[in-house]
Amino acid sequence: MLTIVGIVIKERPVGEQDKFIDVLTSNDGVIEITVKGARKINGKNSSSSQLFAYSRFCIQLRSDRYYLNSAEPICIFYGLRNSIEKISLASYFSEIVKCSVGNQNDENDILRLLLNTLHFLENDSRDRNLLKCIFELRFLTEIGLMPDILCCSVCGEFEPQKIVFLVRDGNFCCEGCFEGDPENPDFVSANAAVLHAVRHIVLSDFKRLFNFKISETALKKLSEFSERYTIEHLDRNFRTLEFYKSIQTL
Ligand SMILES: [Zn+2]
Repeated sequence: MLTIVGIVIKERPVGEQDKFIDVLTSNDGVIEITVKGARKINGKNSSSSQLFAYSRFCIQLRSDRYYLNSAEPICIFYGLRNSIEKISLASYFSEIVKCSVGNQNDENDILRLLLNTLHFLENDSRDRNLLKCIFELRFLTEIGLMPDILCCSVCGEFEPQKIVFLVRDGNFCCEGCFEGDPENPDFVSANAAVLHAVRHIVLSDFKRLFNFKISETALKKLSEFSERYTIEHLDRNFRTLEFYKSIQTL
């Protein structure tokens, strides 16, 4: 018998009464666990093995599969369920994790990032679109895809007032050095406030990660860069992101 601590990032039904859950753990990446009898009414472990439950799981390995023996909830993020926007944004975060994190890696920083982001999302204590940018850019940084935001990639200027992010190259140049077509979606023009926000998200200590303010206009630009950068560098589209965006425009 093994005990692990982690958060359920995906669940899917199997047969009449069982389900599979994917759990992001701190030391073993994402592991798949079979939950027998999970879909019975009043099935034991039901709240501690539901989507976004952060729990302590007692599991057993049998013929190369993990089976849930018992689970004890630590935090089930129940408040996410009050809002379709919150649950869909949380689902986008978990889809990003699911597509990029394998098993047997030490993923403590990613687990901590997801738990903290869900905490702020549940409590409405940060703007949702800001949380989305923080999660996207910090997640990519944690898996080794940090954008190069030190200085203008052409002239080396450290603090230009106007810049253009080069999404595919993952860096930026100052307005004076930029030679591309500004209408091309690979380029996102922004100002120093947006550059500072990106630097904060990718470089700050985890303790200070969620503690910064940004104007609404700068947040729009930050979101544009962050989302395009994520899609480009994870090299895929996200069904959950499309859904989240579709309910924003209602
Ligand atoms: Zn320059």
